[in-house]
Amino acid sequence: MARAINFNPGPAALPLAALERAQKELIDLSGTGMSVMEHSHRGKAYEAVHNEAIALVRELLGVPDSHDVLLLQGGASLQFAMVPMNLLPAGKSADYILTGSWSQKAYKEGKAVGTVRVAATTEKDKKFGRIPEQKELDLDPNAAYVHITSNNTIAGTQWHEFPNVGNVPLVADMSSDIMWRPIDVSKFGVIYAGAQKNLGPSGLAVVIIRKDLVAAGRSDIPAILQYRTHADNKSLYNTPPTFGVYMLRNVLDELKKAGGLAAVERTNREKAKLLYDVIDERNDFYVSPVEKSARSTMNVVFTLKTPELEAEFLSEAQKRGMVGLKGHRSVGGMRASIYNAVTLEWVKALADFMREFKR
Ligand SMILES: *Cc1c(COP(=O)(O)O)cnc(C)c1O
Repeated sequence: MARAINFNPGPAALPLAALERAQKELIDLSGTGMSVMEHSHRGKAYEAVHNEAIALVRELLGVPDSHDVLLLQGGASLQFAMVPMNLLPAGKSADYILTGSWSQKAYKEGKAVGTVRVAATTEKDKKFGRIPEQKELDLDPNAAYVHITSNNTIAGTQWHEFPNVGNVPLVADMSSDIMWRPIDVSKFGVIYAGAQKNLGPSGLAVVIIRKDLVAAGRSDIPAILQYRTHADNKSLYNTPPTFGVYMLRNVLDELKKAGGLAAVERTNREKAKLLYDVIDERNDFYVSPVEKSARSTMNVVFTLKTPELEAEFLSEAQKRGMVGLKGHRSVGGMRASIYNAVTLEWVKALADFMREFKR
């Protein structure tokens, strides 16, 4: 059986070794005669998997003791709501920097909960085709937090340097680029990510949150929506998505074996360069709608001259086993999502195909 050359934007490719391990262990987890899905979430076998997943998040990202690591359900979208519900009390306001449709969605949820401000937006500049500069940010020094989207999955832009927000907690939706490279977690109040791009299966969200923010969070909302509930119960307040957590463990274990985030960053940069080099070759056959300094290393967005040519590109790519290259329905064009699990070989194959198609 041939595996697809998978450029899906999310859910996205997973490391083959992580899937094969799941296949091998599917009906018998560590000699227990049961699948991980059949185990009690309070039992030893599952607990080991759960704790290892959390430990791997800590180890790979270098999460300091000042921060909790939570494994929650509801994907990144529930975090759009949980962040303001917990961290935006009455009488306070939160700043949002709008760099794409995901940050707009986060902003909308904030607005449903409390007072929010737009500290900057690049909507009118080439339709989110860039990231604002520090001097453009109209930051409220008394804000409850500043929210950013570190990688704009649809627009194909990425924050390469995070904004300076002073003493206000920085909250980042890192759904589509978490663990693409090492970062300094201590600079963030909250990092959250839906797992289905770089970490594992959908439905699961990884939340890394400063303990003082957990403690200061509102307690007059339902328990299930309070960060405190999950922090106090090691993300075992209610039945967790055990298979999702198991897959997260498998994916992170492979990432560690491959050399961790410094190693994956080198490969990710090489992959992105392969594609942007083809796009930048003379004659404008492929066009990037994104400002060069803001180009994403995870989602490479480009257009061709006509819709007919784009349709032909997709159909020829499909014949070569390449899937997932159609751009988001809201922006059109092409998008190659080259997350951690997308191999250098696959990206080389795509770059070769792009040159061949151009000829
Ligand atoms: C995919 C994505 C989301 C949505 O994730 P869900 O798990 O479907 O809620 C949010 N933010 C960003 C940046 C994304 O790429």
